[in-house]
Amino acid sequence: MIAEIIAVGSEMLTPHRQDTNSLFLTGGLNKLGVSVAFKTIVGDNFQHLVSAAGIAIRRADIVIFSGGLGPTEDDLTREAAAAALGIDMHRDPAVLESLRQRFAERRIAMPPNNEKQADVLDRAILLNNKTGSAPGQWLDTAIPGPEGHPHRKIVILLPGPPSELKPMFDAECRPRLSAVLPQRYIATRMLRMALIPESTVDARTAPIYQKFTDVETTILAGSGEIQLHFSTTKPSQKEAQARVDELAELIEREMGEDIFSAQGTSLEEVVQLMLGLRDLTLSTAESCTGGLLAERLTSIPNISRNFIGGAVVYSDALKTKFANVPPALLEQYGAISPEVARALADGIRDFTGSSIGIGITGLAGPAGPTSGPDAGRPVGLVYISLSDGEDTQVKQLQLPGDRERIRLWASQHALEMLRRHLQ
Ligand code: ATP
Ligand code: MG
Repeated sequence: MIAEIIAVGSEMLTPHRQDTNSLFLTGGLNKLGVSVAFKTIVGDNFQHLVSAAGIAIRRADIVIFSGGLGPTEDDLTREAAAAALGIDMHRDPAVLESLRQRFAERRIAMPPNNEKQADVLDRAILLNNKTGSAPGQWLDTAIPGPEGHPHRKIVILLPGPPSELKPMFDAECRPRLSAVLPQRYIATRMLRMALIPESTVDARTAPIYQKFTDVETTILAGSGEIQLHFSTTKPSQKEAQARVDELAELIEREMGEDIFSAQGTSLEEVVQLMLGLRDLTLSTAESCTGGLLAERLTSIPNISRNFIGGAVVYSDALKTKFANVPPALLEQYGAISPEVARALADGIRDFTGSSIGIGITGLAGPAGPTSGPDAGRPVGLVYISLSDGEDTQVKQLQLPGDRERIRLWASQHALEMLRRHLQ
């Protein structure tokens, strides 16, 4: 079963208005096990509407129109749907009466324009509008397919204002759709990885997921994270879950420790969990990230057991004061150096008495220093160090992008370095 949504309204073909109704409808349809195969936006033009409606009715099993049920000249959805289906409309006396009543309650005479809101596609069921005037319509019909056999089609007309469309879909369409649709259940899984190029993930996983033609796989990338989403629809929840689990396990086997989460947990949460399991404490000394790492860690409730705190050591003086970085080291190597990163991690660990210390120093830009020991170092150069009392590792990064991106990615690298250390 596939659906098409037609959002009607010229305003959505301008840069100023967006079609959000289709997002809501897609969510609702997906929950019922129906995929949306097409979304169309059409302006308030009769010919264009008939053309889009005709195409949709031929290629989709369920066609939902949003908007264009109002009383004005440019509200043409009813007429266009009737024309595309080759059926007639009738003016429903009960609807007409309730429209008149709505106006009477406000003590105004109903303008003749509004009468067309009572036009109903022949054999359509009316959908009650609790929050507005125009009723929706539900038509369960059949049209001949290319081979001449009839194909069942559900055509639904819904009002445009989201405050009317949403309650109408929930109350009037959802139960009717459930009744006509075969029982289907959706199961989803997500695998999360940090700092691996999307192309690498795809090259390694495509040979596996492509064999699962009944599972929809989506790769989402952003902010130093790759997510693999799997989704499938089956006649039972158990069957659907087993199928996405089967694929997720094969991908987990391929990607191994590159996967930080197989159940949806964030990188921060995974780090917290691992620190907790090992009963370890952590402290941070951050220069270019200005506390971003500490901010991300403290967004997790209950991390206080394991994250004892951090210092924002932006100036050389505070690097010395809070993390005991020797002034001579800063003079000799500059603040953006592996030596200072190491000293920050060791120093904050000593100063706070934590099991693990992390130091971050780097150049977030946009311009680098032109004098002093750091002169000439490129923007995006970042050193991250991790000290656990036995060993102090340092990682050198050359991060692309602007200040915000460099800072975010530096914090992401620090979290991932810590996760891999704790693995
Ligand atoms: P009305 O009786 O209000 O004219 P209608 O069914 O004719 O209802 P439209 O005229 O198409 O609906 O849209 C009314 C308002 O609803 C629009 O101004 C817009 O704010 C909102 N709207 C319409 N379509 C959408 C959409 N697809 N996504 C989000 N908002 C929408
Ligand atoms: Mg309108």
